[in-house]
Amino acid sequence: MDDNFIIILGNGFTKGVLAWINNAIPINANSSNPFSFDISYLNNPDISLMSKLPKLQLLISQHTSMDDFDLMRWFTENQKSDLITYAQMRQYLAIVYSKISKIISKNWQRDFMWENWFKKYQNNIKAIISFNYDLSIETLLLKNNIDYYRVSTEEDTSTSEGISIFKPHGSCDYECPDGSFSIDDLDTRLTGSIFHSDSGIPKILSVKEQMEPRITPDIIVPFENNFQIDFRWVTRGYSQIVEKMRESDSCILYGLDYHKVDRPEINYLISNMPRSSRFIYSSSKSKIVLENEIRKRSRVVSRIDYRIKEDFDKLHCKHRYQIIIRKKKYTTMKCELCGKLVKHWN
Ligand SMILES: [Zn+2]
Repeated sequence: MDDNFIIILGNGFTKGVLAWINNAIPINANSSNPFSFDISYLNNPDISLMSKLPKLQLLISQHTSMDDFDLMRWFTENQKSDLITYAQMRQYLAIVYSKISKIISKNWQRDFMWENWFKKYQNNIKAIISFNYDLSIETLLLKNNIDYYRVSTEEDTSTSEGISIFKPHGSCDYECPDGSFSIDDLDTRLTGSIFHSDSGIPKILSVKEQMEPRITPDIIVPFENNFQIDFRWVTRGYSQIVEKMRESDSCILYGLDYHKVDRPEINYLISNMPRSSRFIYSSSKSKIVLENEIRKRSRVVSRIDYRIKEDFDKLHCKHRYQIIIRKKKYTTMKCELCGKLVKHWN
């Protein structure tokens, strides 16, 4: 009996992809330092994107001792009422992660550990939840001709096939749907403080459009509470994912920092996996808190290091079952390798 997987991805996945590419060809892309990225505005080599975002530039120059993520944490905790800087930060992040995604796609290196795994088990993957804005998971699937669609976006139609991907913190290629707002002038988009409202199902931007300012970037800044959580597309996405979880019995968590602000969403996902599901997760700064949360749901938990092949191979257990309870109506069996429980009705 094959396992059915739910996969929850955080920033560590993108870092893993970038490290793999960097091993083969040095690329200038580091998802940990988005602000030091040199991006030109609208492909004009003489104008940098940052120069078009003076409020963000000022904020960075006033906090040179902080690294980029510390600065974003400080800003979201203390200065979010500064709506212009906040809007500029979101514009910048949407474009910089589009650029990183473009570099990943252009320099893709074969045989990334996860690549073969996805190819082999594509039919067993019920859904992927990604908290990343970049397109590294989409690129991995595209390069391997594995169908997917982003849940609760314009890609999600009655004929959508393949793996469902849900991105509750938005994506660098999401934009508010046509007809909700319109700001045609690209420079004007950078100077406003437009706040995203619940305007409908995200539309998907083309590769060219991804390098242009958004009408409103559909992303949650790191360390920011997910203020989009009650938006219809997010609520709908979560309910679709919970449906998929019912058909699953294994949950892989990879590269999650498990920051305090993200915990309600991750805990909600964990709590919706069927009881006694198998959980496999990678180490993170908050591994003990994360493991405690998982253990409320299941005792079948393993922490592995996805970079080590022997560990990675444990993702798919070749279950060896032993009967532990035999009743008239049912038999319960336990895998002696991973601890997974299955019940058979006689
Ligand atoms: Zn097993």
